[in-house]
Amino acid sequence: MIANVLVMIRKRSRTVIGAALLGCCFMTPQAALAADCPGNPNALGTSRTLVVDPREHPRIGTMQYPETLPLADHEVVLTFDDGPLPKYSNQVLAILASQCVKATFFTIGSQARFNPEGVRKLIAAGHTVGTHSQNHPLTMNKMPLEKVRQEVDDGIASTLAALNGDKSKLAPFFRIPGLMRAEIPEAYLASQGIQVWSADFPADDWRHISPQRVYDLAIQRIEAKHKGILLLHDIQPRTVAALPRILNTLRERGYRIVHVVPATADRPATPTQPQQWFMHPPTETVATTRWPRIPNFVFTATRTLPAPVFADLDWRDADVLDHAQRARVGVPVRTLWPQPQVAQLAPVSTLPIPAADVFRVPEALDLTLLAASRRLAQRAAGPAAGAPRAQAISARQARHPKQAAHQIPAAAHGRGRGAPLHVAPPAASNAAVHVAKRTPRAEASAAGKRVPD
Ligand SMILES: [Zn+2]
Repeated sequence: MIANVLVMIRKRSRTVIGAALLGCCFMTPQAALAADCPGNPNALGTSRTLVVDPREHPRIGTMQYPETLPLADHEVVLTFDDGPLPKYSNQVLAILASQCVKATFFTIGSQARFNPEGVRKLIAAGHTVGTHSQNHPLTMNKMPLEKVRQEVDDGIASTLAALNGDKSKLAPFFRIPGLMRAEIPEAYLASQGIQVWSADFPADDWRHISPQRVYDLAIQRIEAKHKGILLLHDIQPRTVAALPRILNTLRERGYRIVHVVPATADRPATPTQPQQWFMHPPTETVATTRWPRIPNFVFTATRTLPAPVFADLDWRDADVLDHAQRARVGVPVRTLWPQPQVAQLAPVSTLPIPAADVFRVPEALDLTLLAASRRLAQRAAGPAAGAPRAQAISARQARHPKQAAHQIPAAAHGRGRGAPLHVAPPAASNAAVHVAKRTPRAEASAAGKRVPD
């Protein structure tokens, strides 16, 4: 008990120290960035950069997938889809710049073709750029592989063209239009090493709602999960109108913005633990209904293993016996199972027919059951009626030879009342005789109680 308390105290101390260190490490860069943000000493800033390897975590965003980005509590990643569209994308860029916030943009290929300068502006501002297909079809969940491939590849090619083909500037991140996920696009994107980004909370800014409603939904949904990926669109006027308030509220409520970039040869992924990729990782102190998943074993070879010999199964040797057993046993005991000679026996195709007496009920058991039923009958009838009732039963048995054969000869006990003699069945085998001989005491006891004097 005391040991448990001490362990708890130690754990709590560790948690407090850990939280203090965490706060220190997360807050310091943000404070520094906010201070460095030109013209805005109260800027939200970007607290840290998270480097992810798409091949290790091919699908993220709890709106659709089990995993999401490995964010700490009150960390948010901003994402903007469907641009670049100069009229609104440039305003979004200006708002983000005023807060010194970095985000991820998922561009549409056809938009990039019309506005390549807009793509270059995103890169120049230090944001991450992924892609969002070539034509934004909302049917990717029904497309055959060839069409999926064309939409994905063309979207990447169009955006790359705006960047003069510099692949290092384009992140292998993809958001499926309308979040119309399906196995074919997901499998194709995974095969290309491209990470599928769903989201953790949308703000419904593509619907015909007011900027106030966009703001409310964004904040309410972030507050419900406390961390995650926010899905917005940089082509919507309501988003432009709501964004400054969203960022201010996040700062006031202690949220921090995380900038996500892909891992490269010279930029390794941020070290994380597998449970960090879950929105609510199970802890040891919280009961969970999620059973551990059964791993998918991949059999890389069909080589057969050598069959064990019987000596391998001889577990009852001195080495595996504990001290107590060793003291009791003294010497190693030869194992009783499996018997080596079993393997040497020729296989038997038929078994002998069992003798009829194998199925006989031992007489002593029969008498015991009979006596018990009579005692019950006597109790039910009362003490006065017990004797005549037992005599009636005895007389009835006398009329039925089968029952009489199971009764004990009363003469053997000096109680000659005309009770039927024990008649051995004609086909009684040695086994049956053995049973009868083995239980004389039980039979006598049962017989003594069966017939009242
Ligand atoms: Zn979209």
